[in-house]
Amino acid sequence: MGESMMKAMEAILDGCTLAELRRDIYKHTACGPWVSFKLHDGTWNHSGDDLTGVGPGDVRSWQVGSIVEGVDNLDLKEPERDLMVYTEDKDPKQAYEDFYADVATIDKAADDVWRQTHGCDGCAKLWVAEGFDPRGGEWAGYVAVHEKCPDCAGDGVVM
Ligand SMILES: [Zn+2]
Repeated sequence: MGESMMKAMEAILDGCTLAELRRDIYKHTACGPWVSFKLHDGTWNHSGDDLTGVGPGDVRSWQVGSIVEGVDNLDLKEPERDLMVYTEDKDPKQAYEDFYADVATIDKAADDVWRQTHGCDGCAKLWVAEGFDPRGGEWAGYVAVHEKCPDCAGDGVVM
C-alpha cells in the first residue's frame, strides 16, 4: 500500500523534488497556488515550510489552494486528496492528472476572483458609463476589472 502511494507521488513529481514542484506551480501559473503536503505522521507541510529530508514516500495527501491578494477572508482550496486511492491496480499517472486538475481549477478560480475584485478607478468609470454599479454583486465593495480600461489595460490593480 505504501509502495503504490509513493509511486503516485513520484508520478506527480515527474522527476522533481517536492520543493521544485511547489516552486514550479507557483512560477508557471497565473495566480501561483500553494501546495500543501500531509505526511504519514499526520503533520502538514505548507508552502513556505522546509521540505529538507521530505521525499515522495513521506507524503500521505496533498491539497492545493490560493490566496487572492487584497480580498478579505478569501480561502480558495480544493479538497485534501489522499494518495491511498491510487492502489496498485491503478496507473500512477492518474495521480499526476488529478493533481494538475486541482492546480488548474484553483488557478482559474483565483483568476476569476481577481478579475471581479481588482478593477482600478478607470475600470470603475467605464462600468458607470455603461450603466453598471461597479461595486455591486457578489463582491460588493470591490470593482471588477474592465477589459477595455485604458488605465490598467484590463489587467486590474497591481498589488
Ligand atoms: Zn482599470
